[in-house]
Amino acid sequence: MKSKTDCDVLIIGAGPAGSTAAALLAEMGHRVLVLEREKFPRYHIGESLLPFTYQPLQRLGLIERMRTSAFVKKYSVQFVSPSGRASQPFYFFDRYDRNTVAQTWQVLRSEFDQMLLDNARAKGAEVKEQTVVKELLKEGNRFTGARAQTKDGETMEYRAPITLDCTGKEAFSAVRNNWRMKDPFLNKVAVWTYFQGAKRDEGIDAGATTVAYVPEKGWFWYIPQHNDMISVGVVAEGKYLTRGGVKSAEDIFKREVEQNQWIKQHLACGRQTGQYFLTSEYSHHSRHCGTEGLLLVGDAFAFLDPVFSSGVMLALKSGTMAADVVHEAFVARDFSPARFTQYAATLREGVENMRRLVYAFYDPKFSFRQLTNKYPDAVGSVTDCLSGDVNKDFSVLWKQIEEFVPLPEALPVGQPLAAKHLEPA
Ligand SMILES: Cc1cc2nc3c(=O)[nH]c(=O)nc-3n(C[C@H](O)[C@H](O)[C@H](O)COP(=O)(O)OP(=O)(O)OC[C@H]3O[C@@H](n4cnc5c(N)ncnc54)[C@H](O)[C@@H]3O)c2cc1C
Repeated sequence: MKSKTDCDVLIIGAGPAGSTAAALLAEMGHRVLVLEREKFPRYHIGESLLPFTYQPLQRLGLIERMRTSAFVKKYSVQFVSPSGRASQPFYFFDRYDRNTVAQTWQVLRSEFDQMLLDNARAKGAEVKEQTVVKELLKEGNRFTGARAQTKDGETMEYRAPITLDCTGKEAFSAVRNNWRMKDPFLNKVAVWTYFQGAKRDEGIDAGATTVAYVPEKGWFWYIPQHNDMISVGVVAEGKYLTRGGVKSAEDIFKREVEQNQWIKQHLACGRQTGQYFLTSEYSHHSRHCGTEGLLLVGDAFAFLDPVFSSGVMLALKSGTMAADVVHEAFVARDFSPARFTQYAATLREGVENMRRLVYAFYDPKFSFRQLTNKYPDAVGSVTDCLSGDVNKDFSVLWKQIEEFVPLPEALPVGQPLAAKHLEPA
């Protein structure tokens, strides 16, 4: 076994969270090493961005790259009833500055994540692909790095004052520290695939995300991408999707397409391509955001049901926040868990705000139309939260929604674990 100690920050995982933190920390002069299991470009789901990804992308210096990329421009979201009736699209420019957040993108994650990782490399981060982290290293009750297997099968130990876990929904350290908990309610199943040549709406609506309802409060996403591709998937309770003993992803998908006329008609002129994907029970929260020498970022900290496309925004945002808090720790030469208190509070606030809207969405007694008919001023707050401007005081909105349906209490999780409570190695 070989041992290497020459980095300041060890980052596990090169998704949006890891690459963002890596780029910013390298730019701030730290020696950053990123370990990534896959060889990029690699496939990933999570293709529709929210308007408030603008700020982290701007900080990464990538807005021009995004503007000149092939990624489809997204100006709006629309909702379609099971009968196929489409709502008026919600245009972001009705609320936001047209030159910044009012337009976002539908991305192909293989290309988007490659761009983010190239940016981290260009800013000075060292990246080792096809390197799988197998274990976190601990000295006493402090995390000190990771043991990983390289593509040649060699086992290496990498040590650093701080390790960022950016491993996505596999939540490497939350699982191993027994911090991972499922969301009490959000345990849906998603089934999806791709179509070439399927129908797009006209003009600026061509890049809209469509959320199309199926009965029993399930829904389809319909996400137009470049190269004439559409990403289309269905999300609902597992019990509902597998009713009658239907098990295969393809059979589930084909049956559900019959449940929404808009989806059926839009797909009719297209050709299904590639495999059918299925994933289940993916919403989770980590009891702690980290402890001495360890910080969780992006999905590795928390992941919510994808209905409002919040994942990449939260990954980018937490990547920037993690970079800042780690930089401050270096300046102060203090990596004690208490430094991560505000990081955890801010992130959890954003997750909880989004989570309340997700719970309302899945409650059969709730509809956005009823809410905004009674409280027209709720449109602004709902739009802010759904656009990813999640760290705001939404208390008035929650009171208004609670007149229709109950909302969940914030989960009492996320704060850093004081090192003395961690089992020593
Ligand atoms: C069905 C579905 C639909 C979604 N739709 C959307 C959407 O439309 N919009 C949106 O914003 N979000 C969406 N998401 C969420 C989105 O996919 C995630 O929130 C986002 O990818 C999180 O980024 P991340 O950097 O935290 O993790 P990831 O992007 O998952 O990156 C983690 C990286 O860590 C690497 N890794 C993992 N384990 C190890 C290890 N042991 N060693 C080394 N490397 C490792 C992985 O290979 C991966 O590259 C969706 C999710 C699902 C499940």
